[in-house]
Amino acid sequence: MPLPSSLTRQSSMANPYRILALGMFVAFGAAIGGEFFSAAAPAEVPPPPPTLLAAAHANPAEVAFTDTLRRGETITQLLARAELADTDARSLLDELRQHHDPRRLKPGSVLSYRKGFSSGELRALEMRLDADRTLNARREGTAWDVRVEEVPVRTDTVVLSGVVESSLYRALASAEGDNDVPTGERERVVDLLADRIFAWQIDFSRDLRAGDEFRVLYERQVRPDGTARTSRVLAVQMEINGRTHEAYHFHSPDGTEDYYMRDGGSLKRAFLRAPLEFRRISSAFSKSRFHPILGKNRPHNGVDYAAAAGTPVRAVGDGVIGRAGWGGGYGNVVEIRHQRGYTSRYAHLRGFANGIRPGVRVRQGDLIGYVGATGLATGPHLHYEFHANGRPVDPNSIKYLTGEPIPSRHRGPFTRTLGLQLSFLDEWVDSLRLAQPGAGLASTAAIE
Ligand SMILES: [Zn+2]
Repeated sequence: MPLPSSLTRQSSMANPYRILALGMFVAFGAAIGGEFFSAAAPAEVPPPPPTLLAAAHANPAEVAFTDTLRRGETITQLLARAELADTDARSLLDELRQHHDPRRLKPGSVLSYRKGFSSGELRALEMRLDADRTLNARREGTAWDVRVEEVPVRTDTVVLSGVVESSLYRALASAEGDNDVPTGERERVVDLLADRIFAWQIDFSRDLRAGDEFRVLYERQVRPDGTARTSRVLAVQMEINGRTHEAYHFHSPDGTEDYYMRDGGSLKRAFLRAPLEFRRISSAFSKSRFHPILGKNRPHNGVDYAAAAGTPVRAVGDGVIGRAGWGGGYGNVVEIRHQRGYTSRYAHLRGFANGIRPGVRVRQGDLIGYVGATGLATGPHLHYEFHANGRPVDPNSIKYLTGEPIPSRHRGPFTRTLGLQLSFLDEWVDSLRLAQPGAGLASTAAIE
């Protein structure tokens, strides 16, 4: 397969941007977001430069204005500033209301309009309704032709790849692939990987090591200004501590969508790897087991997560609250009894979530309390323990599945989707090798 000249694939949406066809127009001091050009009477309009005037003689000229909806102002007041004839304003507003509730326009909305140079008659009007839609109105004799047009988007499919050095956020922020993807969007990809796609497999705050590699196949619908209207992770491959983790997105013919392993198995497990969202966990936390209050090393049967006081704590799995109250050195503590003799324990909580008390049933991901520093704790953190029949165990060792695999009737479409995703990722790896003969992914994509 020939290599793509660029690793960004683009395809046009079937919704080309309609451009308002206008005759010759002369633009004056249009200010967006700054000073308003308050509906000038023709007499106040400075004379156009001579070159434009010459052209204006050839066609009936129009004058373009820009104004901004002010805080507390209605569209009627804005149109009044444009000095529309009352009948014009009324028929235009009636028409606009068919397409958009004018009360939903936000202060700062920019209105552009064009008037006949000599007649002063409003000919066309354009207003951005939101990031994705523009309202266009054109005079058709005495009536108005109003339409709402979608801002054009293109679909980019890109690969973000790199090697973890210090943090995954940092690695992804500087990942190779597409430099057009803004940092904020890259951070959302990390959140998605940690708290959604691999929430059952990887504790991103503890499992990642320098040298771990990742490749993310990522699709975004991009507006002309470079921001994404929608985006989604299509596939992820991560090498963590020598182990491969993979997730592939599948939109089933039934309309449901989810991530699966290469063999079509579900990624969902009975227990989440971490009781806190990854982005809430502070990175700097001593791994020492020296207990600062007791002043000696004590057996530490749990995992400590540093996080701001008040950070939501979630149930790692379905179960029944066994304990929610004061637990001495544990401070405020919640215990959940899960099936098959498993128990999870959450300590030093500042407080409990509403309705959390013994006997109450909770689902995986439910809010149970908030990070605090109650009991024997020097600072806000969550002490988390996981037990099997009363003995501490590594939650990672528990494998039992809870999600459904791809049903057999969807195997065909899944296999085709998977094939596309894999070929895209393989092309990416090939192109890196080609760029630096002899070099593998790790060396070419290394960061810092
Ligand atoms: Zn602890």
